Amino acid sequence: MSVLPDDQIAKPAFEPSSKMFVGGRWLDSRDGETLAVFNPSTGRQIATIPNAGYADVDLAVKSAQQALDSGPWGRMPARERGLLIRKLSDLIEKNRIEFAQLEALDNGKPFAAANAYDVAKTIEWFEYFSGWPTKMNGQVIPADSPSKMIYTTRQPVGVVGQIIPWNFPLMMAAWKLAPALAAGCTVVLKPAEETPLSALLLGRLVQEAGFPDGVVNILTGAGEKTGVAMVSHPGIAKIAFTGSTSIGKSIMAGSAPFLRRLTLELGGNSPNILLDDIDVESVVAQLADAAFANHGQNCCAGTRLFVPRALEREVSERLGDIARRIKVGPGMDPASDMGPLISNLQKQRVQVLVADSADRGAKIVFGGGTPADQAEGYFFEPTVISNVDDDMPIVREEIFGPVITVLPYDTFDEVVTRANATEYGLAAGIWTRDLNLAHETAAKIRAGTVWINTYNETSPAVPFGGFGHSGYGREHGEAVLDHYTEIKSVWVNMDPSVKTKGNQA
Ligand code: NAP
Ligand code: MG
Repeated sequence: MSVLPDDQIAKPAFEPSSKMFVGGRWLDSRDGETLAVFNPSTGRQIATIPNAGYADVDLAVKSAQQALDSGPWGRMPARERGLLIRKLSDLIEKNRIEFAQLEALDNGKPFAAANAYDVAKTIEWFEYFSGWPTKMNGQVIPADSPSKMIYTTRQPVGVVGQIIPWNFPLMMAAWKLAPALAAGCTVVLKPAEETPLSALLLGRLVQEAGFPDGVVNILTGAGEKTGVAMVSHPGIAKIAFTGSTSIGKSIMAGSAPFLRRLTLELGGNSPNILLDDIDVESVVAQLADAAFANHGQNCCAGTRLFVPRALEREVSERLGDIARRIKVGPGMDPASDMGPLISNLQKQRVQVLVADSADRGAKIVFGGGTPADQAEGYFFEPTVISNVDDDMPIVREEIFGPVITVLPYDTFDEVVTRANATEYGLAAGIWTRDLNLAHETAAKIRAGTVWINTYNETSPAVPFGGFGHSGYGREHGEAVLDHYTEIKSVWVNMDPSVKTKGNQA
C-alpha cells in the first residue's frame, strides 16, 4: 500500500472550528457549549466542536420526524432512495484521501490503514445497502378463504438515534447509517466526542448527494450530555449503539419508559484457538494481527490466544519478534505501522492491566510500556504476555489495547470450556485444517461470529453481533433490516357480504 508524499498528507483537511449538521443546516449548539478535539499522536488540540444538549437533540429529532412524515423522503420511490445512497458511496470514494487524513489525525490510526480499511469498507457498506431498498419485499400469506388476502409490508421504524465509538469513526457511521437509510428511516447520529471529524465531513457529502433536509442529522457532543439527551428523548423510536457494555446497559434502562427498539453492539473478549495440527510459522503473523489490528482497539480483538501447551514458548517468542518489528508512530507518518491509543485515559487503562498482570507473575515477553522514541501522544507498545492464567484481570477483562495473552491448554474439551468462560460472546477464531474439529468448535463456541483459519473479517452482507454481554441484535446483511423496520400485517376481506352504499343487489 503506497501513501501520499508527506507534503500532501500533512495539510490539515478540516476546518478547525466545526458546526454540526441539523435539519440540513450547520449550527452551533443552542447553549454555545463546545468541546476540544485532540490528535492522539501529539496530544494537541486540532478542532473545536459543538457540545449538543437537549434543545439540539429536540431540533434534530423534529427535523428527522418531519423529513419522514411530510418531506420527500417518506414518499420517495425505493429506487431513488437506493440511488441516493449509491451517490453518497461515490462521493466518499471521491473524498477518500481527505477521509483517511481525518481518521489519521483524529483517531491516530496510520493513514494507509485508514485508507485501505476504514474508508474502503465505508464505501463498500453504502454501495451494498444502496441495493436493498428495491429488494425489501413483504409477503403474501395464504388465507383460510379465497375471498381473503393477507400481506405484510415493512415500514421504517421511525427516527433512529445512533451512538458510535471512536475506534473506527467513519466505518461505524457507515455501519449505522447505510442500513437505516436503506430501510427508509431518518437518523440522528452522534459520533464519539474524541473522533467527530470524519462524521462531519460525511454530513457535507450527505448534503452534496442531495438527501432531503432532516434525513441525516449529525450531532457532536459528549456522551453524558448529547448521548443522555438522545436517550431521554421520546421522539427517538430506536437506538442503535456501539460501545461499552456498561453504557449499553444505561441506554437500555433509559429506553425502557418508551419501549424503544434497541440494537446494542457492546464489548468482547474473544478467544483465538490454535489447534496442534497447524504449522505455527504459517499463521503466527495472523495470530498477532488478530489482537494488534487497529492497535487492539477492536471489539473483536483476539486477545486470548489459546495454544497447545507444547507450543507456548515457540508461539510467545515468535509473537514477541513480530511485536518488536512493529513501528509505532504518528498516524500521519507513512513509516508508522501502528498509531497511538485514543486518549491518555485509554492508555492508562491498558497500562494498569498489563502492570497488574506482571505483579501477579505474568511474563511480559515484549512491550508493556511507552515506546522509547515516542515522548508525546498516547503511544503504547504492542505487547505479548505469557505465563498468565484465566483468573487474571488481563485475561478476564476487555483490554482494548495492543496486547495479546498466550494461554496454554492440554485438551480440546478443556480449551472450548475455557474459551467460553466469559460473559461476552462477540467473536472467536479457530486454526485447524481438521474439518470435523473446525465445525465442532464453531458449533460449541458461544459467539456471534466464528472465524476458521482467518480473523477479523467483516462484510456488509454477513450478520454481525454478540451473544450475552456483547449485546443483541445483528448488524449487516438482511438481518439488520429487521431492526430498522416494523412488519405490518394487512388483512383484506373481499367477501361480497360487505357491500358498498347503494348496492342492494
Ligand atoms: P462508550 O463510553 O460506551 O462510548 C460509546 C459512545 O457512547 C460514545 O459516543 C459516547 O460518547 C457515548 N456515550 C457515553 N456515555 C453515554 C451515555 N450515558 N448515554 C448515551 N451515550 C453515551 O465506549 P468507549 O469507551 O468510548 O469505547 C470503547 C468501548 O466500545 C469498548 O468497551 C468496546 O468494546 C466497545 N466497542 C464495541 C464494538 C462492537 O461492535 N461491539 C465496537 C467498538 C467498540 P462520548 O463521545 O462521550 O464518548
Ligand atoms: Mg467514551
